[in-house]
Amino acid sequence: MSSIFSNTKEAFSLKSNFELNRALFLFRIIGNKSFVKITTSLTKFALKYNLPFTSLIKITVFDHFCGGLNEKECIPLIKKLYHKKVFSVLDFSTEGFETEEEFDLCLEKKISIIDFVKGKKQIPFVVFKPTCLGSYSLFSKVSSNVILNNEEKLKWSRVIQRFEKICKKASQENIKILIDAEEVEVQKAIDDLAVLMMSKFNSLNPVVYNTVQMYRKDRMSYLKNLLKNNDNIIFGLKLVRGAYMEKERKIANENGIESLICENKAETDKNFNLAIDFVFKNIKRVSFVCASHNENSTLKVMKMIKDKGLKENDSRIWFGQLYGMSDNISFNLGKNNYNTFKIIPFGSVKNLMPYLIRRAEENSSVQGQTGRELQLILDEKKRRSVLK
Ligand SMILES: Cc1cc2nc3c(=O)[nH]c(=O)nc-3n(C[C@H](O)[C@H](O)[C@H](O)COP(=O)(O)OP(=O)(O)OC[C@H]3O[C@@H](n4cnc5c(N)ncnc54)[C@H](O)[C@@H]3O)c2cc1C
Repeated sequence: MSSIFSNTKEAFSLKSNFELNRALFLFRIIGNKSFVKITTSLTKFALKYNLPFTSLIKITVFDHFCGGLNEKECIPLIKKLYHKKVFSVLDFSTEGFETEEEFDLCLEKKISIIDFVKGKKQIPFVVFKPTCLGSYSLFSKVSSNVILNNEEKLKWSRVIQRFEKICKKASQENIKILIDAEEVEVQKAIDDLAVLMMSKFNSLNPVVYNTVQMYRKDRMSYLKNLLKNNDNIIFGLKLVRGAYMEKERKIANENGIESLICENKAETDKNFNLAIDFVFKNIKRVSFVCASHNENSTLKVMKMIKDKGLKENDSRIWFGQLYGMSDNISFNLGKNNYNTFKIIPFGSVKNLMPYLIRRAEENSSVQGQTGRELQLILDEKKRRSVLK
């Protein structure tokens, strides 16, 4: 492992001993797959029947992975991160929205977040999940070219308007916008909308960033065609490996079709590396975020910055991690002058449960990540105990 990411003093400089012990406790239980399965079911049950469970979740897993119940509560954290040269991206929880009223509310909330964020140098991006602006089934139909009935056409035109309102507002306020990637079933509609928005708002600067999931076998050819077919766009791309692997495999299996997800982790890693090479090759037309907790991917981007003779904080190149994970990457990148941000989810405990459950499942299923977090925490505890 590279020494730059083993600096645990820097990585945990914002964590008190209590917070460090809480992180140790959390990653220990998250590392236990059976325990995560049982607690996830129990939590879903407790929330469904309004059992008094939220305070326990709030002081444990919520406080570790989330910034607060509203944007104002996140301010102390944003300031602390910025002091360490780590930027923040606020992510309001919006999963499970289903009605037109909820989609409109979500739009209003996203616009109000842009108002909150504007002028704050600590927060360069805003982010949204596309299916918070329209129903999942509609995105799915549009993605598979199903002919829409009149009511669906009307609803889809509203989705386009909501996308455009957010992107226009972000563009006016000089803020960049990250569009999250979701399941394969809905992604084509998202990609097409993202490119439409880029064609409107990215002619001079990259305002709109679409997310590309490199665990998909088809994404390298997608990237190549995207640049080949759109001369007039300055691209904003967020490169990720992809968060829905198990779900995608299950869907493909149930439908008896070949999964679009790479056969194994090595294939995904290879694809992610190819994407990094590709964006650097096209850096005159592409700004990008390496959104990853993988140290090798981060090191590869750092090396390419150096090899290309670019500045560490070149405005076209960003790194991103989720709050509560991989502090060793974020803080050491910040310390070395690279552009890096933490995604900070905020909102009610109930609304954030799907996000928290995904984090727990991801950490219990992704080989290595939990062990790595645990080892770093233990190293830091040891370092602090020697100082006593
Ligand atoms: C800032 C940020 C924003 C994100 N935004 C999104 C988003 O919009 N949409 C989204 O889908 N995800 C998003 N993610 C999550 C991301 O896709 C990954 O799930 C997560 O970051 C873990 O991948 P990694 O590169 O950090 O690390 P690693 O631990 O190196 O990689 C783990 C990932 O590798 C892949 N993988 C693991 N095992 C296998 C296997 N057997 N076969 C094939 N592939 C495998 C999976 O994608 C898995 O998540 C985001 C992550 C970050 C940090």
